[in-house]
This record gives sequence, C-alpha cells and structure tokens, in this order.
Amino acid sequence: MFKDATIDEINGSIELAWKAFHDYRKLSLKHRAAFMKAIAVEIDALGTSLIETAMKETNLPEARLMGERARTIFQLNSYADACEKADWLEARIDTAIPTKTPPKPDLRKMLVPLGPVVVFGASNFPFAYSTAGGDTACAFAAGCPVIVKAHPAHAQTSELVAGAILKAAEKCNMPKGIFTHIHSSGFEGGRALVTHTHVRAVGFTGSFIGGKALFDAANQRKEPIPVFSEMGSVNPVFLMPEKLKESAADIAKMYAGSITLSTGQFCTNPGLIIAVDGNDLNIFIDKLGEEIKNIAPGTMLHPGIAKLYNEKRISALAQKDVETVSVSSVAPKENQGTPTIATVHAHVFLDNPVLHQEIFGPYSLVIKCKDANEMLEVAKHLEGQLTSTLMATVNDVRENDELVEAVKNICGRFILNGVPTGVEVCLSMHHGGPFPATTDSRYSSVGADGIKRFARPVSFQNWANELLPDELKNENPLHIWRTVNNELTKDVIK
Ligand code: NAP
Repeated sequence: MFKDATIDEINGSIELAWKAFHDYRKLSLKHRAAFMKAIAVEIDALGTSLIETAMKETNLPEARLMGERARTIFQLNSYADACEKADWLEARIDTAIPTKTPPKPDLRKMLVPLGPVVVFGASNFPFAYSTAGGDTACAFAAGCPVIVKAHPAHAQTSELVAGAILKAAEKCNMPKGIFTHIHSSGFEGGRALVTHTHVRAVGFTGSFIGGKALFDAANQRKEPIPVFSEMGSVNPVFLMPEKLKESAADIAKMYAGSITLSTGQFCTNPGLIIAVDGNDLNIFIDKLGEEIKNIAPGTMLHPGIAKLYNEKRISALAQKDVETVSVSSVAPKENQGTPTIATVHAHVFLDNPVLHQEIFGPYSLVIKCKDANEMLEVAKHLEGQLTSTLMATVNDVRENDELVEAVKNICGRFILNGVPTGVEVCLSMHHGGPFPATTDSRYSSVGADGIKRFARPVSFQNWANELLPDELKNENPLHIWRTVNNELTKDVIK
C-alpha cells in the first residue's frame, strides 16, 4: 500500500535526524514536554477514523483499541510530566573540597541524550508500543529525534499517528527531522537503519529472531549501540500446594481469561503453569479445560502470526508425551487462533527444549511435577522472563524459600496471586527481564524510567556555574530534585 523507502531515502532521513538532534537536545525540558503533550492532543483529534483504521488492519476489537489509545495518550502526558520533573536525569552534585589532600574537584553529573533513536513498533500494540508508543515517547523525553519503521501489519494506522506527530512538531516549532516515518518491507531497510553511523539507539518489540538479529547487527557496527529489544516470554505461573487446595477452580477460571485475552497476543501471556501432580491439580486442569472449550477462537493480528501460532501449537502438541487437555469447541476460521491447553510431566518438559518456546497465542502448557523439588528444578531450567507468578498463600511462600528465590531470579516482574496480563503504566513498573525476554534486563520499556534507555551520564568537572546546564546550576533554576553532597534536595547551593 505504501512505497518502501529506498536506502538513499533512509540515509537522508537519518542525516536530517542527526541535524535535528543538535537543536532538539538543547531545548528545555518544558519545551520537550509541551511537544509530547501536543502529540497526545493530535492523536486524540484523529477521533474515530484512527480506531476504524486500526480495527480493519489488526482485527482487534473497538473497546480494546479505544483503551489502548487512551493508554498511549496517558503515556505521552505522564512521560512528558516526568520529563519536566527531571528525576530521570539523576542530577548528582558533589561540591569541591579545596582543603582536601589532594583537593576534591567540583563534580556534577546528569544524563544527556544519546542521539537519533530507531523504533520498530510492535504488531500487537498498534498504538501503545508502536509509532507514538512508549519507546518514541521515552526517546523524545530524553532529547532524541526518532525514526519509526512502521509495522507492515498496521501501516495505515501508523501513517495516521505519524501525521499527528508531524502536526504537533510543526505547531511546537520542532527542528525538521525530529521525527521520520518509514515504510520498508524486507529486512534491508531495518538493517540500514540500525547500522547507520548517526543512529545511536534502537527500541524493538517483536519476535526473538527479529530482536536478536537487530541486536547482533548493532553490535557488529564499528561503534556498537544499545538495542533495547523486548522479545519472547512464556511467563511461568507456579501454583503452590496450599493455594491450589484452597481455590483450584477459581484460579482456573481466572487463568482461562488471561490465557485467551486478546487471542493470547500479549508478551505477558501465561504460557506455562507449574504445579505438583495430584487431586488438586486435576480439579484445576478439569476446570481450565471446561472454560477453554467455551471460549471461541479469535482472528489474530495478521496471517503471519496466525500461521506461526498454528504451526508452533501443532508442533508442541505432537511432542512425545504431551497430552492435549482441551481445545475450543468452536472450529477456527481463517487466521484464527484456537484456545488450547496441554499437559506434560516435568521430566519430559526438562528434556525437551521445544516445550520451553513461546507459542504466541491462546495456548498454555501445564507441567505436572512429582513434588516441590521438581518444581524447583523446572524454575532453575527456565530462561529469562518478563514476568513470573506465584499463586500462593503466605505459608506457601514461607515454606518454599528456595523456589521463590529461583523464580524471582528469572523475571523482571514478580506477581503474587494475580495474572501477568495487564501492565500498569507507572514509575514502579518494570517491564523487562533477563535475556531472552529482553536484551538488557536493567531497563524497563514501560513507565517513565524507560526514558533512561536513551540517555547516558556525563560528569562536569570544575565547570563555572554560569557555564553549567540549568539542571546542575547552584541556584537550581528548574527547581528539580538533586542529590547534593549525598542528600536528596531541591535546595539552592550556597
Ligand atoms: P517480528 O517478525 O519480529 O517483526 C517486528 C518488526 O521487526 C517488523 O517491522 C519487521 O520487519 C522487523 N524485523 C524482524 N526481523 C528483522 C530482521 N532480521 N532484520 C530487520 N528487521 C526485522 O514481529 P511480528 O511481525 O510482530 O510478529 C511475529 C512474531 O513475533 C509473533 O508470531 C510472535 O511470536 C512474536 N511477537 C512477540 C511479541 C512479544 O511481545 N513478545 C510481540 C509481537 C510479536 P518486516 O515486517 O519487514 O518483516
């Protein structure tokens, strides 16, 4: 539908972004925040046409898309507030002690923007993790121009949002090149973006293969750059014995909803459920199976995702000693994903890497363990995850110290008695996790802390007050929180 950008056009856009960087980074935090808020206004002004376009392109229902648009607007506004508040800058000041031997210099540190950021939007979040999504908002807050590669599964939606960003840029007098929107099918364009010398960071959400390929390309550059790829996660759920005895059927009902939410197309979808085999687990499995049978298949985001889901699902169910417990009683139509539950014994799971892979869609595998030791064994063999969940009583947690530690060790968000789907946008959220969930477990792609991904620290040593950035001046003209001589304060330095 849209013409692919040529390599020359891609290079031209990056040159423009590089020029824009030198102007944009000098703008005040207030000005950056005003730009982000203007984008939110322009997205809102797109009204129903945006929702209708996204519905056609993604097969997602209206209510979900309305909610996601509201979330995107909230992200832009709240990250704009955070940008201005400047906590993310981590301003640190240690004043000079000339009488010390040797004399201690005046040192003042803050984060500064990295440079142009390339964003690969997610297919499963056409607004919130796409063109004007979390990565773009964080990069703008940090002081970086953005080049978005539109996801081909919602190119028209992406085009509309890009138009809103460009309108806001014009209204706020942003430098030309602050934002570029590129269509490119095939991997050549994506690679050209990531390997261009003026690109200084990448945000990606999607498959492991795609995220890792771009990470590797960036690391092979003459000057490697950070790539924040959010890739797969199976989000294991550990059902602990006392909790399972108390409420097996209720948990099953809650999990049937979480596994099939948005046809399972969430990075936080619970793909593995681990428990000790026995009567209580059987009650859980029976109830979960009953619920899943009654949930109709949904049309997936694009034919490629539906094809992958069906192939991976069929392959998993065909593995030795995997038992299919339940599939939806409604036959799937073209490009639909069938809700499916299977079981396997832990010793089989531990020996078969195919069963550890993410199956992106409404699928979950229940792992039956002999005892708590085998649950621990499973936890120790799982790869890095965005989330892990414990369904547990206080006694369960207290009596299974080692298991709790092992589960915490593999994830970025550790949930007690809930479901992993649903990611709150706030400062205390961590949406990231050890590899292969992401390429850098230290950073979150949700919440204003995500701004830090696109900035780096610089220490200013012995600089005259008048030459320092406002954030570090003695008089604290921005009235921001700073750590001065090891005390958090907004005070002026006398
Ligand atoms: P994807 O295939 O990883 O594609 C995401 C974006 O990255 C697209 O713009 C794609 O370009 C680009 N890309 C992928 N591989 C590349 C490479 N080697 N070099 C350069 N660019 C590359 O993700 P998807 O289309 O959204 O979905 C495919 C699968 O990804 C799903 O079935 C699911 O398994 C997984 N997924 C996971 C999550 C999650 O949150 N964990 C979210 C969405 C999808 P092209 O479109 O031109 O190929």
